[in-house]
Amino acid sequence: MGLHCEKGFVLTCKKPIVEQCAYCSQHFCIKHGHIDKATCKSRRCMTKYRREKRLFDRQTWEDERYQLGVERNAVSLCAYPECANEVYVACGHCETFYCPNHVARYNYNYRTHTRRAITRVKGDVTLCDVCQPYLREYNQDRYE
Ligand SMILES: [Zn+2]
Ligand SMILES: [Zn+2]
Ligand SMILES: [Zn+2]
Ligand SMILES: [Zn+2]
Repeated sequence: MGLHCEKGFVLTCKKPIVEQCAYCSQHFCIKHGHIDKATCKSRRCMTKYRREKRLFDRQTWEDERYQLGVERNAVSLCAYPECANEVYVACGHCETFYCPNHVARYNYNYRTHTRRAITRVKGDVTLCDVCQPYLREYNQDRYE
């Protein structure tokens, strides 16, 4: 564990450390990292950081939409922000209710692999715009 910055191109930087990188565990000074994010500025760590941030932002957005949906459903309104229609059907994934304009029906099919056989399963699911990306989970093969 170094007491000085472990970054630097040719020579180690040796400035006082302010933080340890959450990904590569190297210590860095103020110039070589971001204190608020605990990520050094190496390309590898920044890529990891950005990927996590995207996932995190997406999750936050989904949570907000879900909360709003539950509140809107409580007064029989479609979960979609500012939609004036009444509820009609529940999304098969997040289970909040939407009007027909804001959900769509999707077909899926996947295979179940057991020791004895492979079975193909087909079905359909109603998904809202928030949950549409989860359709790929419905198409994933299952192993038993
Ligand atoms: Zn790093
Ligand atoms: Zn440094
Ligand atoms: Zn949904
Ligand atoms: Zn709607």
